[in-house]
Amino acid sequence: MGKILIFGHKNPDTDSILSALLMEKFDKNLGFDVEAVRLGNVNKETQYVLDYLGIEAPRMIDEVLDGQEVVLVDHNEFAQSVNNIENATITCVVDHHRICDFKTSAPLYYRAEPLGCTASIMYKKYMEENIKIERNDAILMLSAIISDTLLFKSPTCTEEDVKIAKELEKIANINMEEYGLNMLKAGTDLSDLTADELITLDSKEVMLKDVKAKIAQVNTASIPDMLKRKSELENSIANTVNNEGLDLFVLAITDIIESNSQVIVLGKRADLVEKSYNVKLVDNTAFLPGVVSRKKQILPILTENA
Ligand code: MG
Ligand code: MG
Ligand code: MG
Repeated sequence: MGKILIFGHKNPDTDSILSALLMEKFDKNLGFDVEAVRLGNVNKETQYVLDYLGIEAPRMIDEVLDGQEVVLVDHNEFAQSVNNIENATITCVVDHHRICDFKTSAPLYYRAEPLGCTASIMYKKYMEENIKIERNDAILMLSAIISDTLLFKSPTCTEEDVKIAKELEKIANINMEEYGLNMLKAGTDLSDLTADELITLDSKEVMLKDVKAKIAQVNTASIPDMLKRKSELENSIANTVNNEGLDLFVLAITDIIESNSQVIVLGKRADLVEKSYNVKLVDNTAFLPGVVSRKKQILPILTENA
C-alpha cells in the first residue's frame, strides 16, 4: 500500500509544514509507515525555521493517486487540499479550523480543537503518548505557534497556546520573543516576489455561502511599502478573479507590528467587505484597524454577511 502521506494545506504556511513534520515523527513512533510532504513552496518565514534547525523541507507533491492513504494537518476543506483528495483515503485529520465540505466514506481519526495552532494540538498529542519532545521538536512547535498567533497577538491565540509556548520555550532554550520576531520578519521580506507570487503566498479558496472567494494574506512591517505595488497587485488579482471565476478576492496586507490590515478587494461581491466592516472601498482598498486574523476576523464576518 505504500507510505501514508501527511500534509498541510496548499500555499503552505509555517504551521502546515512544521505540523506535518511533527506528525511524521509522531506516527513513526507509533509504528506507522508515513512521510511528510507539502503542497506548495516553502515561504521565507518557514525557511528561516528550517535553516535555523538545519533540516530539509519535505518533498512537494501536487496530487495523490486514487486510494492513497493520507493524513491532513492544519486543514480539512477539500478546496485547500491536494488535487484528487476526493478519491484518497483520509485516515486522520488534526486541525484547528472550521469544518467545511468534509466527508469520508470510511471511519477516521479526527481531532479538531479551537486552539491558535495545529502544533499546539501536536504538543498535546506528544504528551498524551509520552513521546519525548526534543529541542528540535520544541522549536518546530514554538515556531508554528508564533507564526499562527503572530507572537500571541492574534485573537486566535488562546491561553492554552501561551501556556504551551512557555513550556516549549524552556525545552527549546531560546528567547521566544526575540527568535519569534526574527522569524516573522524573515517572512516579510517579499521584495523579490512577483505580484502573482504575493497574492498566492498565503491564499485560501473558500465558499462564503454561495460566494466563491479567495482570501489572501501577506505579512508586512510596513503597509505603505506594500501599497507601492498596489496597481501591480490589482492587476494580478483581477486576472485571478477572471481566470478562476471568483466572485470576490480579498488581499489582506497585515502589519504584524501594529496589528492592523489594509485590504485590496476586487470582484463583483466587493460590497461584502463594505457591508461587513462598515467601510467604503476607495480605489479598491480600505484600512481595517485591529484586523489580523483571517480565521476569526475575516472569514466568519464575510460569511455572515454573504
Ligand atoms: Mg495554516
Ligand atoms: Mg494553522
Ligand atoms: Mg495562517
